[in-house]
Amino acid sequence: MSQAVLSRPTRTLEAQSLIGGEWRVGGGQKREVKSPYFGEIVGEYHEVTRSEVDQAVKAAGRAQLAWAQTPIKERSAVLYRVRTLLLERADEMSHLIALESGKTLAEGKAGLLKGVEVLEFALSLQNMDVGGRVEVSRGVYCEFRREPVGVVAGITPFNFPAMVPMWMMPIAIVLGNAFIWKPSDKTPLTSNPLAQVFVDAGLPPGVLSVLQGTRDTVENVIDHPGVLAIGFVGSTPVARSVYQRAAQNGKRVLALGGAKNHIVLMPDADPELVARGVGDSFTGCAGQRCMAASVLVAVGPCDSLLEKISSYVQQIQLGQDMGAIVNAESRDRLVKAVEQAEQDGAKVILNGSHARPRGLAGMSEKYANGFWFGPTMIDQVRPEMPVAQVELFGPVLSIIRAKTLSEALAIENQNPFGNAASIFTSSGAAAERFVREARAGMVGVNIGVPVPREPFSFGGLFESKFGHGDITGPSSLEFWGALKKITTRWGASVDHNWMS
Ligand code: NAD
Repeated sequence: MSQAVLSRPTRTLEAQSLIGGEWRVGGGQKREVKSPYFGEIVGEYHEVTRSEVDQAVKAAGRAQLAWAQTPIKERSAVLYRVRTLLLERADEMSHLIALESGKTLAEGKAGLLKGVEVLEFALSLQNMDVGGRVEVSRGVYCEFRREPVGVVAGITPFNFPAMVPMWMMPIAIVLGNAFIWKPSDKTPLTSNPLAQVFVDAGLPPGVLSVLQGTRDTVENVIDHPGVLAIGFVGSTPVARSVYQRAAQNGKRVLALGGAKNHIVLMPDADPELVARGVGDSFTGCAGQRCMAASVLVAVGPCDSLLEKISSYVQQIQLGQDMGAIVNAESRDRLVKAVEQAEQDGAKVILNGSHARPRGLAGMSEKYANGFWFGPTMIDQVRPEMPVAQVELFGPVLSIIRAKTLSEALAIENQNPFGNAASIFTSSGAAAERFVREARAGMVGVNIGVPVPREPFSFGGLFESKFGHGDITGPSSLEFWGALKKITTRWGASVDHNWMS
């Protein structure tokens, strides 16, 4: 979907923190937010101090006690109003998401709607997650009850400023927890209207807090004894360190990390599906999503399919169909990675290093200082090259040639990440073998971005996830909930049984 030129805000926007139900400017260091589209400062925020983290956790603890006593149907009623307000405000919020993250408006909105889908899963729990009670011996009953954990926290990345927090907040909150959200320091602006939706829907003060900041804030949250569970989504090195720090503190933790997703291309694949599926996968969100295709393993004679992909992505209008790279540092890293690949002997068949937005009137001038990088395809990549190993987080497709499906699977299997993997083929046997043997948590057949829809859960394996279970779906209930087992005997019977 194409979009009009984004408008630059007329004043500098401010991202505040929400503590004990009150919005306030943090007492710590001031930081700036640059828009990837304009390359200019559009917002600012102040980090919260350690003492503000403490205030937030204490206020959350007080609020959580009452929230846990609120029946799930009443908690769900608040979240139902959140859904209504989110849909009403989706366009306005998508603009802010695009402005600070570099996504297109359509991508910003799609992420928000995916978040609404998770919220709908959370709303279904009032009817489905009803526990169970059985008379296990005469007059003795055992019962399951899912209780909230208490005060929990979520730390989120820049690339989905609304969707990733919405993977966690609705489920954690509907289960009766108080949630402390630390948004990305690169995209703090969206957190304000998103959290305001919960406030306006009637969520009691303190049940949701927003704490702006960077590493120090994350560490202060993890180390606070009042925070009992930590959900994290971000890059692998940070996910690993958050996991280790939280686990050392005896906390429950699930930390999703980065990715290097492989697509295996078989020569019998449908050319139209391939062009769109692979093209959209590596260029969507300008390659800045953990489900983006990054390595294409082309099996046998695939030249005409590669040409199809190349023609498809060359039609993409930068600034309209594809957004910008989050900051200058990331854009420069992409440019260097392409140069390095060429020096290593790979063949750059499409180079987006110098691409700039054209098209709509006034666009090239307005976006002149933005962080741009166009679709890039690199052929003759060898598995040991950095472009085949390192998560680039940009619209770059590294193509490795293989002779057989076995060889392609071996290449996919050696990569240390395990988020997504897909195959494009018209052979059921090849697809079935790939599904069985690919080492990834989310596998696709003729799908470039195999994101499961609710209630199928989201989560990778290996270096893409530290901890057990998935961030959404049924196992998220285990993460954000505490299962209590109650054994009861009422009445005068004192018969001996196996428990006596
Ligand atoms: P990031 O790891 O830099 O930041 C993630 C969060 O951690 C942010 O809130 C940030 O402020 C905080 N942070 C940054 N450095 C920290 C440190 N040293 N200690 C503690 N906290 C720190 O990630 P990003 O650049 O914002 O997001 C992109 C990354 O996220 C990519 O690697 C992408 O693959 C990954 N991601 C993964 C998933 C998934 O589901 N597996 C989803 C989205 C994004």
